[in-house]
Amino acid sequence: MRWLPDEPQLALFGPEQRELPSVEYMAVNARRIINTLPASSRMPFRHTINVYRGCRHACTYCFARPTHEYLGLNSGEDFERRIVVKVNAVEKLERELDDPAWSGDSIAMGTNTDPYQPAEGHYRLTRGLVEVLSRRRNPFSILTKSSLIVRDIDLLSEAAARTRVSVAMSIGTDEDAVARITEPGAASPSSRLEAISRLAAAGLRPSVLMAPILPGISDGEEQIRRLTRACLDAGADHVSPILLHLRPGVREHYFEWLERELPALVDLHQDAYRAGPYGLRHDRERVASIVRDELTARAGGCPAGSGSAGGSRTRTPQRTHRGP
Ligand code: SF4
Repeated sequence: MRWLPDEPQLALFGPEQRELPSVEYMAVNARRIINTLPASSRMPFRHTINVYRGCRHACTYCFARPTHEYLGLNSGEDFERRIVVKVNAVEKLERELDDPAWSGDSIAMGTNTDPYQPAEGHYRLTRGLVEVLSRRRNPFSILTKSSLIVRDIDLLSEAAARTRVSVAMSIGTDEDAVARITEPGAASPSSRLEAISRLAAAGLRPSVLMAPILPGISDGEEQIRRLTRACLDAGADHVSPILLHLRPGVREHYFEWLERELPALVDLHQDAYRAGPYGLRHDRERVASIVRDELTARAGGCPAGSGSAGGSRTRTPQRTHRGP
């Protein structure tokens, strides 16, 4: 990538920004836009595009924070307010799809940072990428925490008629108070649920990554049941819950935040994440079981609350996303 010092750095204030320090957009020319993961990767996708680096949604638990350090920026405030924008993304994509060596595989967007974060309202790069992928009939997937995706429903519907398109909303709580402290720059839970409804109404069959479920904050049984029902009511086609992951680099940031905002939960997290970044197996299974139970009830199986497993619309939790 090359920094473009002449590009004006814009202070943009979209509807999703609340009480965050002023933002600075840093335009760069990317050398390549499609990133190909090594064959040894265990992620459920091979090719990705992340058109923005850093994320204005500023989620306290964000997996992508440490990646900002590769740019010589920090994973705390810089990640939230110094957003790198790959301004040549659309033209690069055209060229890379022209390469005879291109496989035509699906491309995942939103695997590291959010493709519909507030910068997209101005730069419209994700929209440009969707236009190209649609025209070229190249399958793709999008994961976001932003209601801005509804702006592109027309294009997404057109693309879905031509190729395989998968859209997913990430939502880990339906409580505004929880979202405000943990995801201060993201769309409110109600806006995200509304976006799911709009995507479903357009026939795009949105799925929900119910993530992350936060220990001691959003992992109460009734909280999980209510959120699952809200996602289904909104029209979610699939629901996949994921408990908070705390990998090195994110773990330190999250613990600092806990000590400052919710010190009573520090011990609980130390116990749960001592053995590894994915929390306790028992906790993961409990969350999955509650969601399955609700899905089974919705599908006409055993009543919710029975603790039954099954559920035709749940999937095995996957590490599908590092960002939204
Ligand atoms: S978790 Fe996703 S939406 Fe939140 S800051 Fe990270 S990339 Fe952005």
